[in-house]
Amino acid sequence: MREKKYKWRRADYQEKTRGLLIVNTGNGKGKTTCALGLMMRAAGRGLRCCMIQFMKSKADRYGEHESAEKLGIEVHTMGDGFTWDTKNPEQDRQTARSTWALCVEKMRGGEYDMLVFDEIVYVLSYQMLPLEEVLEEIQRSRATQPALHIILTGRDAPAALIEAADLVTEMREIKHPFNRTEERIFAQEGIEF
Ligand code: ATP
Ligand code: MG
Repeated sequence: MREKKYKWRRADYQEKTRGLLIVNTGNGKGKTTCALGLMMRAAGRGLRCCMIQFMKSKADRYGEHESAEKLGIEVHTMGDGFTWDTKNPEQDRQTARSTWALCVEKMRGGEYDMLVFDEIVYVLSYQMLPLEEVLEEIQRSRATQPALHIILTGRDAPAALIEAADLVTEMREIKHPFNRTEERIFAQEGIEF
């Protein structure tokens, strides 16, 4: 866990802000990086940000984790390094559960201005977590913390999630270096991790 730099939320921000439920979905690149960009902007305004990653493993240490730490953005990577290839669906469900439990703790704790649940949409689309329960919990937090921004990322956003959100962006692949017909270019430092 990366420790936070800002101890308290900004009181003036609470008064004048309408918290948004934001969904970054679609099959093109940019869902997680967009969420990181928003946290970078928010951190510059002294807002308290936290990202919880459903898919990365605890052992993963990417460029964004180094940068987030410098900016006082808290990041939690859950999971045990298995690949979510659903060879062990029960294990996947359990990891989804425990990661969601941390999301709930962060929402209920009321200490953040911006929360990012990275790849939760993927987890929802694979029905590893019940959508109704997730939506209910999010709505409850938004009702008690009207200035809280919550950002959800991942492919294949379910219709009910899109309906509930204030801002939905679909990243659409036009070209991706992994999918080139000539020599393919795979994940690179500073671009993918
Ligand atoms: P990023 O983290 O770069 O913003 P993302 O969050 O939009 O990407 P994910 O669905 O989380 O993308 O996929 C994770 C990885 O898959 C990333 O490393 C990304 O580069 C890669 N990826 C994203 N879009 C595509 C695509 N259309 N084809 C192949 N690989 C992709
Ligand atoms: Mg992503």
